[in-house]
Amino acid sequence: MADTVRTGEVVKLDRGYPLVRFPDGALLRCEHATALVKGHDQRAVIGDVVEVAVPAGHDKGVIASIAPRTREFVRKDPTERALPQVLAANFERVIVAQPVGEVNLRRLERELVLAFETGAAVTVVLTKADLTDDGASEAVVRRVRDLAGPAVDVLLVSEADAASVEAVRRLLAPGTTTVLIGRSGVGKSSLVNMLVGAEVLEVGAVREGDGKGRHTTVSREIVEVPGAGRIVDMPGVRGLGLWDADAGIEAAFPDIEALAGQCRFRDCTHTGEPGCAVGAALEAGTLPEGRYESYQALKQEMASVKDRREQARRLNKEKASYNRHYRKGGPPARKKRRS
Ligand code: GDP
Ligand code: ZN
Repeated sequence: MADTVRTGEVVKLDRGYPLVRFPDGALLRCEHATALVKGHDQRAVIGDVVEVAVPAGHDKGVIASIAPRTREFVRKDPTERALPQVLAANFERVIVAQPVGEVNLRRLERELVLAFETGAAVTVVLTKADLTDDGASEAVVRRVRDLAGPAVDVLLVSEADAASVEAVRRLLAPGTTTVLIGRSGVGKSSLVNMLVGAEVLEVGAVREGDGKGRHTTVSREIVEVPGAGRIVDMPGVRGLGLWDADAGIEAAFPDIEALAGQCRFRDCTHTGEPGCAVGAALEAGTLPEGRYESYQALKQEMASVKDRREQARRLNKEKASYNRHYRKGGPPARKKRRS
C-alpha cells in the first residue's frame, strides 16, 4: 500500500529528530530517508519545508525531500574543521539580542555579519532596559545605531515595559518568520514569552560570571506569536564561527569597505602599506581602533576558513583518486562528515 505523503514544516529539532507540523496543526516526529542523508548529506533544519512519507502504522514520518531554502543561517560547524552548519532556514528577519547594560560591540559586529549574510532584514534588540538608567541606555542605543547602520532598527526592550515588547511584535509580520540570536542569558526566551503572553519557553536563571549553573532552554522551536508572525529562539548558539561571510562583512563594515576602495593598492591589507586609506582614517581618528581590529580579525577568520575548506577539498580529491587507483570492489563507504 502506498504511503501518504504530506508537506509540512520543521518546527523543532527533537533530540536530533525533526518535529514536523502539518497545515492542519498536527505534529509528527520524523527521521530522514536514507537516500537524503547518504546520497546528498542533507538534513532538515528548523524552518525547512519537507515532504514526509507517513508509512501506515508507523509512529515516525520519513522525510523524503527538503524544499529549496529561501534563506539559511549558517555558521562554521564548531565540531568540524571545514564544514558548515545550518541552524535555521526560510525566515525573513534576524533579531540580534544583547543586554543594553552589557553590550559587547565586538560580539555584536560578528552577530551582525552573520545576520547580514543571510540577506534577511536585521534588527538589534537591547534587552533588560529596566536594569540600566535611561540616559546610559540612550547612549548605548546611539552607539549601536552607529555601528549597525541605517538599515537596522535598534529597539530597547524591558520586561517592565509592555510597550517595548509591542514594538518588537510589530516587526513580526503575519506569515513571516524571525530568528532570534544572542548568547545565552540575554533574555531571548523571556522576550518570546512576553510576545506570546505565556510561558512557552523556559527562562534560565543565569549565574553571572563563569556561566556555569545556567539553566537555559535547549530546544529550538518555532513559536507562533498571536496576531503576528512566528519567532524561533536559537539558544546555546555559543560559537558563531564565520562560514561564508564575505558579503556579511561588507554589509557590516561599509565604512571600512569604502575606505579600502581608496587604498593605493587593490590588494592592500591595511597593515601599514603606503597610500592606505584605512590606515589614514585610523590615524586621523575617524575610524575607531576597535572597529578596525574587529574588521581585520573577521577578515582573517574568513581567510583561514577558506584555507581549511580548500585543504579539505584537496584532501578529499586525493582520497578519491587514491581509492580509484588502489582499492578494489568499487568505491568505499564515504565518510563525508569527517573529511
Ligand atoms: P536566554 O538564555 O537568552 O533565553 O535568556 P532568558 O530569557 O532565559 O533570561 C535570562 C535571565 O534574564 C532570566 O533570569 C530572566 O529573568 C532575566 N531577564 C530577561 N529579560 C529581562 C528584563 O527585561 N529585565 C530583567 N531585569 N531581567 C530580565
Ligand atoms: Zn589599505
